[in-house]
Amino acid sequence: MFVLNQNQCPMKKSLAILSMNCPRCNEGQLFTNRSIFPLRRLHQMPDHCNGCGLKFNPEPGFYTGAMYVSYALNIGLFIFCFFALYIGLQVHVFTFLAIYGVSILLLSPLSFRYSRTLFLHLFYSYEPRAKEDYLKSLKLYTHRS
Ligand SMILES: [Zn+2]
Repeated sequence: MFVLNQNQCPMKKSLAILSMNCPRCNEGQLFTNRSIFPLRRLHQMPDHCNGCGLKFNPEPGFYTGAMYVSYALNIGLFIFCFFALYIGLQVHVFTFLAIYGVSILLLSPLSFRYSRTLFLHLFYSYEPRAKEDYLKSLKLYTHRS
């Protein structure tokens, strides 16, 4: 009998990435503040997922690699702007560069957060029983103390 493995469902993974949720349980929020404002608190993440207990900062400097994801996102934006503006609408090269520069500045908070989200999703996969196991371990911990 064929059983759909939820670990391999790309739709669920995509929704978790778009909503910036935990890669293991797809429920916990990756960032403490859902809004990008205030910008000073843009990078703040909880230590652990409140759904499954996954440690969001597995090791010091973990998110340094997210810079490469951010670079790839910005290259994708450049290619999109190039084909849409320079090739499609045939604007002047300085107009194209100005619009691209402004869009980079305006989208940088989202780029920052999505690069961290994508980077974490590269290393962890969905585990259907993660939340259940985490709650069981919490009950065991509270019964001991
Ligand atoms: Zn989680």
